[in-house]
Amino acid sequence: MNLYNIKANDEQVTFGQAVKQGFGRNQGLFFPKKLPCFDDIEALLSKDFVSRSSDILSALIGDELSVETVQSLVKNAFQFPAPLVQVQDSIHALELFHGPTLSFKDFGSRFMAQSLRELSEGRKVTILTATSGDTGAAVAHAFYDMDSIDVVILYPRGKISLLQEKLFCTLGGNIHTVAVNGNFDDCQMMVKQAFADAELRTSIGLNSANSINISRLMAQICYYFEAVSQLTSEQRRNLVISVPSGNFGNLTAGLLAKAIGLPIKRFIAATNVNDTVPRYLRTGEWMPAPTIHTLSNAMDVSQPNNWPRIEELFQRKGWGLNELGFGAVTDEKTVETLKVMFNAGYLCEPHGAVAYRLLEQQLKKEEHGLFLCTAHPAKFKESVDIILSHDILLPAMLAKHEVMELLSVEKDAEFPQISAYLRDIAK
Ligand SMILES: *Cc1c(COP(=O)(O)O)cnc(C)c1O
Repeated sequence: MNLYNIKANDEQVTFGQAVKQGFGRNQGLFFPKKLPCFDDIEALLSKDFVSRSSDILSALIGDELSVETVQSLVKNAFQFPAPLVQVQDSIHALELFHGPTLSFKDFGSRFMAQSLRELSEGRKVTILTATSGDTGAAVAHAFYDMDSIDVVILYPRGKISLLQEKLFCTLGGNIHTVAVNGNFDDCQMMVKQAFADAELRTSIGLNSANSINISRLMAQICYYFEAVSQLTSEQRRNLVISVPSGNFGNLTAGLLAKAIGLPIKRFIAATNVNDTVPRYLRTGEWMPAPTIHTLSNAMDVSQPNNWPRIEELFQRKGWGLNELGFGAVTDEKTVETLKVMFNAGYLCEPHGAVAYRLLEQQLKKEEHGLFLCTAHPAKFKESVDIILSHDILLPAMLAKHEVMELLSVEKDAEFPQISAYLRDIAK
């Protein structure tokens, strides 16, 4: 698989380089030069999740990794289902939260971890990442117990929920968590400083494993196929998919699935009031506003990283941006929607509810709708319990971690402290 840097087209890399580097010059994103096209979609859809996903990823990666290698990476990464649940006659929920850390980020993180281990061939690697919640947990569990890979996760002390903290700061072993006396931006700043330090970077084999890594998007393509495989041919005919979006990786993966042949009529880009993209689609002007804290906090992003990839894909395929559905949902409407859904028999959480709301409003008579449920409701128990006057049962994974001891170390938001800590770990 060859990829080019969207910001500097002459920079071209292999899949292996793209996975290890994350991004290219000027922080440019990598994008595949050629996309495969599957002609016999029916045959592909009739396969089981792991075999089908191996076929898709193998076609994308090409001969850089053998078919057998890709199969084993996929088998290790995708050990949990992505089921559809019927919510209305013409609407299904695609539940992407049955993995170990209960969010869709498990799919991408686990495939990235498997790929990175394969590609680093036993060399020492230190993964450094900053998190405000879900990503940290998914990355920690994906790399847990991998030989020769250390993971260091920075997060703002006291600014994530205790449940979230327990999920990834209790593993120990090769997972090192740092509670930083500062905010998320401070954490992200120190990650950037570490990568800017060339000597540190090479001496400890620093790697980012961040959300723009191409391997994560590629893994996410697979669950769109899995969703369609569970529909009847009648339902597949006029399919609309609503994607709750923050950094727009999930939507990028869906559009890539369509680009390689999956029959999807239309996507809806669903956001909360951090609505840079919906405003852009309405007015043609890219005007990020300050980020606002909302109930669907994993989508509190005003400068979505993956958007340039979407523009690139539309241009390459000759699609018009006006084909994309869009909308922004306030917290007030999110609360209202959660209640309506719950009364109709489906327990959802704020991110899924944002996607459902817009789908329900924009779905036409002859169409069938899917909305993506990106997290388990228990992950947002603190807000959802109050909204629904309910007591959500903790799934086994959360309950297990809830009683474990926090193993994080505390550091001030000063780079020399972090860099010394990194060197110490890599020893
Ligand atoms: C990360 C996340 C999102 C946003 O996904 P993007 O790919 O960044 O658009 C939505 N919901 C949940 C629960 C998340 O963790």
